[in-house]
Amino acid sequence: MKADQLRVAVVGAGIAGLTAAAAMSRRGIRCEVFEQTRHLREVGAGVQIAPNATRLLHRLGLGEYLRSVAVRPEAVEMRRWDDDSVLARIDLGDSCEELFGAPYYTIHRADLHRGLLEALPQAQGVVHLGCHLKALEEHPDAVRLLFADGSDATADVAVGADGIHSVVRSSVVIDEAKFSGQTIYRGLIPAQRVPFLLEDPKVRIWLGPRQHFVCYPVSAGSLVSFGATTPGGDWRTESWSALGRVEDLAAAYAGWNDEVGKVIDAASSVSRWALHDRDTASRWSSERTTLIGDAAHPMLPFMAQGANQAIEDGVAAAVCLEAASAASPAAALDRYEAIRKARATRVYEESRANSRAFHLADGQQQARRDVDMGGKYNLRSQEWLYAYDAELAAADGPRGDRDGA
Ligand code: FAD
Repeated sequence: MKADQLRVAVVGAGIAGLTAAAAMSRRGIRCEVFEQTRHLREVGAGVQIAPNATRLLHRLGLGEYLRSVAVRPEAVEMRRWDDDSVLARIDLGDSCEELFGAPYYTIHRADLHRGLLEALPQAQGVVHLGCHLKALEEHPDAVRLLFADGSDATADVAVGADGIHSVVRSSVVIDEAKFSGQTIYRGLIPAQRVPFLLEDPKVRIWLGPRQHFVCYPVSAGSLVSFGATTPGGDWRTESWSALGRVEDLAAAYAGWNDEVGKVIDAASSVSRWALHDRDTASRWSSERTTLIGDAAHPMLPFMAQGANQAIEDGVAAAVCLEAASAASPAAALDRYEAIRKARATRVYEESRANSRAFHLADGQQQARRDVDMGGKYNLRSQEWLYAYDAELAAADGPRGDRDGA
């Protein structure tokens, strides 16, 4: 049976779902995306996209677009919370492109989302809005998606790209999202209010007791995005539209260095988000269903890799499904899972480890961390992460243990 006869239903039009749809469409797989929101838009926040994802986005045709809307930072710098001294620096810019053949970008999430939509051959027919998945039925010969408005859809394979609270995931594994104990304040500031951050565009990360602060330019340098973690207290809301109070953020960062103070002073509003993840799932796939992005491996944002891994998943799923038959796609799904799980789990574990390492109180452990970081943290040390080519890995990687792919 030919690949173009496989029908795939992707649930969720976030970064994972749109990447998967773009990659599948290019491979001749018939793919439809079902998204719960009625109007496609992304939130006002930045995201860092590393070479492991940008090389895939370039192949989807987004190279020129990304260059025009994103910022290519010169470095990621870890700094000390009180005196702003540099603890470690990863050079990016040209060095990153020379070493890994693809750039590191900081980008507004809405710009990334728009670029992915434009990478779809005919977004109109591919993405269906207002389709909130309530349940998924897996039958021997098809999957059936049941939506909140009473409508339904049938496909050969369902791909859950429906985020950390994935309905599709609940049909594969039973578990719950876990509160990390931390919240994050996020905001965007017109760049002219913080000109000192633009002279030398960088990702600045200030580490301090119990919390850390990140900022970088986005939107071709016209905006600066920031994220500031704080111990969570009783805040449990997970919504980009939930507003926090700038004065609470300022109070939480009182006594930090002047640059952090100036960024907070320049903010007129902030959102506040309770950070959750889940334990790693024993499996991501069943006979006709699999998971990608946060639905598969929701992780804390302390490696800045959740979206990058979502992009890797979307492309890898497309490569694996290209060879699958509508009659028995299970082996292709197993193969996808076998290739992606080890990789995403490593990133997930490093993200959890950073949630401890970034927030050490001043003392012996913190002093050891700083020496370690200063010695080890450089562009070469990121090779395992940035050099990885998810498309090649999926083309060459291990086969699943079922027959029929
Ligand atoms: P989502 O973005 O959650 O998209 C899921 C989609 O599915 C949404 O459109 C939703 O409406 C839809 N949906 C949900 N349920 C249903 C349903 N039942 N039916 C139909 N549709 C549904 N990652 C990075 O790589 N770099 C960073 O710098 C970075 N910074 C971050 C900072 C913060 C504060 C946070 C919280 C995360 C950060 N991440 C970062 C992680 C990144 O945002 C996520 O990993 C990424 O957005 C996951 O994409 P996704 O498409 O899997 O899920």
